[in-house]
Amino acid sequence: MSSALISGASIAGPALAFWLRRYGFDVTVVEKAHTLRGGGYPIDIRGTALGVVERMGLLPRLREAHVDTHRLTFLDAGGDVVASMRPESLTRSGNRDLEVRRGDLAEVLYDTVRDDVELLFDNSIVAMADHDGGVDVTFRSGLQRTYDHVIGADGLHSAVRALTFGPEEQFHRYLGYCFAGFTMPNHLGLRQEGLMWNEPGRAAVLYAVGSGESVHGFLCFTRATAPFSAFRDPQAQRELVASVFADDDWEVPKLVEAMRAADDLFFDTVSQIRLPRWSSGRVALVGDAAYAPSFLTGQGSSLALVGAYVLAGHLATAPDHTAAFEAYERQTRPFVEANQGLVEEGRAEMFPGTTEALAARNAALRELTTMPATEGRPEHSAMTLPDFTV
Ligand SMILES: Cc1cc2nc3c(=O)[nH]c(=O)nc-3n(C[C@H](O)[C@H](O)[C@H](O)COP(=O)(O)OP(=O)(O)OC[C@H]3O[C@@H](n4cnc5c(N)ncnc54)[C@H](O)[C@@H]3O)c2cc1C
Repeated sequence: MSSALISGASIAGPALAFWLRRYGFDVTVVEKAHTLRGGGYPIDIRGTALGVVERMGLLPRLREAHVDTHRLTFLDAGGDVVASMRPESLTRSGNRDLEVRRGDLAEVLYDTVRDDVELLFDNSIVAMADHDGGVDVTFRSGLQRTYDHVIGADGLHSAVRALTFGPEEQFHRYLGYCFAGFTMPNHLGLRQEGLMWNEPGRAAVLYAVGSGESVHGFLCFTRATAPFSAFRDPQAQRELVASVFADDDWEVPKLVEAMRAADDLFFDTVSQIRLPRWSSGRVALVGDAAYAPSFLTGQGSSLALVGAYVLAGHLATAPDHTAAFEAYERQTRPFVEANQGLVEEGRAEMFPGTTEALAARNAALRELTTMPATEGRPEHSAMTLPDFTV
């Protein structure tokens, strides 16, 4: 039986573990957090990725977790309504799409593998030596093991990528924005709806998934350079975000206060990962670690699910790992690049950086409210899932 070590237990990691177990691999997953990480904004599963969760038998559970947002309302600096609409008008998505909380998707995926794979929480890979017989891995705990394959599913700031290809900066394509997401009290009594407040270069969002006592808070802002130094310092992240929104009105002071107090703060840059190759020797990458598209595309989880399915299928059917990794990349890269191409640096439609761009966006939003929803963007379905017979 071939063995595989997967680094990261969020979306790509458990999805890959599911398929590798199905094909008879002996799978270990290592995750640096103490437990499965909940939280995170609602994410979309759409287009080609819907076929993956369908093949995993997860559609019924995910439909139960579907968020079903009824309304998105855009507000100006003083909190007055600019436009209000059904979310489909904005995402240009068909109504087959699923929108689930990131933490719910991670949990559903994790449940499919928790009894069948070895899970090492609160640990991570610190060294790897790739040779003819496998990859010798040293873990932070001191444990040493050899695996046939090591797969990095450890996100935008992947440690497996750094160990294999070198520092992140060379592959990191910063799109000019930073964001902070966190949970906060639902003091406005919002129900299945989102409110987005904008000033040029700054956005504050409240997103109520249900009608419960908490909502997702989200602060996003433009910044000329990526604050790499803040990545490992939560206090520096809080100070940075608070200073950017210090003089704003509406509910922004309450969001900043909640961000400071949050125990589930998720801060990151809005960035893509663009790598010339997704594998080297017996080591490969999947999901954000290989090809993060950024949340502006709304495609991060969908690309992670599709990549995991294709990578596992080729590992199970190709004559060796070299052929498998090549086929995985050949088949998936055009789909990934089409979706990464949905956004350009500093040009996020929803987060205009100047007064003129904000006025243009608002005019476009008002127009959208009068247009029927369309059937999704072609990039979301630009790949047909291959079938693998083992
Ligand atoms: C807690 C959390 C909240 C998020 N919130 C948002 C959000 O609000 N908006 C958004 O656009 N995207 C968010 N994301 C990212 C989103 O999940 C991904 O863009 C997308 O789903 C692709 O998933 P992925 O599995 O490839 O990467 P990720 O979801 O980033 O998962 C990577 C996993 O690897 C783990 N990991 C990282 N380094 C190591 C290491 N050295 N060793 C072992 N494990 C490691 C991480 O803890 C994480 O569980 C969030 C991710 C997490 C983990």
